[in-house]
Amino acid sequence: MTIKAPIADPVDIGKAASAAFLRLPDVPILFARRATRFAALAQGHPMGGFLQFMARLAEAQADAVRALKPGGLPDAAEIEEAKQAAMPPLGGDGLLDGPQWRDVLQAILRWVAVGGAPPATRQVIAELQAEAPEILDGRARAVLSGDVPDLSRGAAVFVAAALQVRWAVAASLLSADGFQQIDDGKRCPVCAQAPLVSVIGPAAEGQSTRYLHCRLCASAWNYVRIKCAACGSTEGIAYHAIEGSDGTVRAETCDKCHGYVKILSTEKEPTLDPMADDLASTGLDLMVAEAGWERPAPNPFLLTS
Ligand SMILES: [Zn+2]
Ligand SMILES: [Zn+2]
Repeated sequence: MTIKAPIADPVDIGKAASAAFLRLPDVPILFARRATRFAALAQGHPMGGFLQFMARLAEAQADAVRALKPGGLPDAAEIEEAKQAAMPPLGGDGLLDGPQWRDVLQAILRWVAVGGAPPATRQVIAELQAEAPEILDGRARAVLSGDVPDLSRGAAVFVAAALQVRWAVAASLLSADGFQQIDDGKRCPVCAQAPLVSVIGPAAEGQSTRYLHCRLCASAWNYVRIKCAACGSTEGIAYHAIEGSDGTVRAETCDKCHGYVKILSTEKEPTLDPMADDLASTGLDLMVAEAGWERPAPNPFLLTS
């Protein structure tokens, strides 16, 4: 009897079974899929008009990936140095240097304007199209810091969309090896932003794994289950869903910090998208907020204070 296939080394089996720490985004598939999911969720939804608009914005993001010129990225040595020091290589506002992010913004504005938009949106688009680079950079910094004045929220939606493209494309060019946890896993190891939501999905050997998804660069990093993504507590964790829902989206609340982060299940809904399903389940945010739980970082397209 001959053995036709080599017997796998137990170390290799261990590697295959354990989930990768970091998953970098796959653009532009990311934005094209997101657009499809927004459009599907909009059907018969009380926020259908808004979700349709978000589908169009995600299409504009997918298109804007093509408008992004190379350059303005940290070099390979800087990235390696950052990884070794457990620093986020795309943290801070370094990707605002150069014209790239503003080119992306203008491409997004053109795409949305061509499709026809309500008068208020057209006015915001016209303002952003005419603004000087330093004003636009100021808007971008406000969005990155999460500190957007009330009057700027309409414009911030387009700025946030452009920054997501800029950061996701930059993240997609990195190698996922060698990244380390930042802030005990509570922040994105690539760009240091807070997570948008967490997503549970199937992994090797029938075990499910959880990833936190970045609100800016769309990277996802492995995070222990049943642990508060806001403060790191493993005690006092509970799960809440809207009555009658299928459990695709739940809120993981924490008694220690009174915070919550949503937890989405691809086992329940394989086509879900973190951004689209987060916005389509705003009803759950309202319910959890009424019960006294606070979301540490809002969805970047809502920017509630
Ligand atoms: Zn990130
Ligand atoms: Zn907590």
